Amino acid sequence: MAIASVTGAGRGIGQAIAVALAEAGHDLVLNDLDEAALAETAEAVTARGRTLALVPGDIATDPAAIGARMAVALGPLACHVNNAGIPMRTRGDLLEGGAEEFDHVLGVNLRGTFLLTQAVARQMASEPVPSGSRRSIISITSASAALPSPERGAYCMSKAAASMMVKLFALRLAELGIMCHEVRPGVIRTPMTAPVAARYDAMIAGGLTPVARWGEAEDVARTVASLASGAHPFSTGDVFHVDGGLHLHRL
Ligand code: NAD
Repeated sequence: MAIASVTGAGRGIGQAIAVALAEAGHDLVLNDLDEAALAETAEAVTARGRTLALVPGDIATDPAAIGARMAVALGPLACHVNNAGIPMRTRGDLLEGGAEEFDHVLGVNLRGTFLLTQAVARQMASEPVPSGSRRSIISITSASAALPSPERGAYCMSKAAASMMVKLFALRLAELGIMCHEVRPGVIRTPMTAPVAARYDAMIAGGLTPVARWGEAEDVARTVASLASGAHPFSTGDVFHVDGGLHLHRL
């Protein structure tokens, strides 16, 4: 049985990914800092008949320990998904804002994600390469990795750097048969975007995306499940956009 792990699995995109991977037949190791939310996802996973291990905790505080625990909780991982991420607490002028907000956002979206991935990858690298196996590390970045929003600069910088992280791990882990993929969502309806939903409603109605609708968490989850299935065996270090064409430039 293939085992997959997901960070930030308590709600939103992470919860949808956990459910999609469970439906695809994975047993799951799930992390979130919100234990009540994590219990909800756990219920959805066990309802689908899958085995489960929970590794609660804040990936900004204890990333290496959480990664190391996730990587062995049920046995060798076939797939690890970096999903946990946070927006900026306040949007504002790029010329304002201090080190505290920068460190907060980068601490989760980059530092925590990198150190956790390093621990997971180290464990995966120590395991024998199973024959005919499909192993992957999938990271959820954001359209903001490439599209600058000056009012939330730290978030954009964190996601651009996370995109580079994927390429670095792709190069390092290819010889071990571990494919590293970046999934780059656009505007997705989740608790994270709920506070700015009216603004995005108006932007989508005004033609923001060629596919004129909100993305749903399930849109991202289906892409992740497809990548985890090994359906893209000769791809690594690639960006998979899940954004209704938001990234397309037009003249
Ligand atoms: P969300 O806020 O709805 O859910 C995030 C989950 O991660 C929560 O359950 C939260 O408790 C958990 N989490 C946050 N910080 C954590 C930490 N330090 N340690 C462990 N768990 C933590 O967010 P979402 O919209 O589902 O976003 C998921 C990912 O997708 C994030 O990386 C986000 O940046 C990215 N993303 C979201 C959108 C969007 O429009 N919603 C777009 C692009 C990228």
